[in-house]
Amino acid sequence: IIKYSDIRPISELYTSSVLKPGKTQRFKGDSTLLERVSLFQGDITKLQVDSIVNAANKSLLGGGGVDGAIHAAAGRKLLAECRTLNGCDTGFSKITGAYNLPSKRIIHTVGPVYSSPSVDIKVQQLTSCYQSSLDLAVKNELRHIAFPSISTGIYGYPIEDATHIALNVVRKHFEAESGTEGSGAFKLDRVIFVVWSDKDKSVYESLIPEYFPPV
Ligand code: ADP
Repeated sequence: IIKYSDIRPISELYTSSVLKPGKTQRFKGDSTLLERVSLFQGDITKLQVDSIVNAANKSLLGGGGVDGAIHAAAGRKLLAECRTLNGCDTGFSKITGAYNLPSKRIIHTVGPVYSSPSVDIKVQQLTSCYQSSLDLAVKNELRHIAFPSISTGIYGYPIEDATHIALNVVRKHFEAESGTEGSGAFKLDRVIFVVWSDKDKSVYESLIPEYFPPV
């Protein structure tokens, strides 16, 4: 089990020069955001955080990749709850309990299959996966949300394109949130990007500075 306190924010990756200022800077530097984003390499099922996201399929009844790992670790009761949900459309998200996992809840989101027809629709659907997951976390007052790299495994979405989408949606979520300052609205403490492979980790390391530049 990996405790929340052991998942370090990206501010520390700048301090240790793992992250370096990027050539392209798409957003302004904001020191508070560097404490609210993490990059973690490893097994998402081990994280003791308020919510983890599952890259599910439309049936919500389990599958391969991270979905298989989550169902295997959470146990049969997760499958039983998922059976009551009547599936989920591409680009949408549904929340369940986490059963035998150390996290509190699981947010199941259905990413697009990359071989599906139009590029525009795929971008819109992957964007909507991240957005609807963030919305569910906020609505349920979950302080942390850990995302795997949705659609980039079996579903074949190119990792660079998908990572731009993931980082852009999360940065825009934080931007929109700062417009509600003082409203008492619930705010996430941390968004954790979880990568499995070294290749995916290096893509995130090269793109994070474009969306969350150092101050
Ligand atoms: P999709 O069907 O949406 O493409 P996959 O599960 O095939 O989903 O892949 C999504 C990403 O999750 C891939 O980068 C894969 O390497 C990664 N992954 C697989 N198992 C785990 C795990 N236990 N924890 C975190 N990430 C994982």
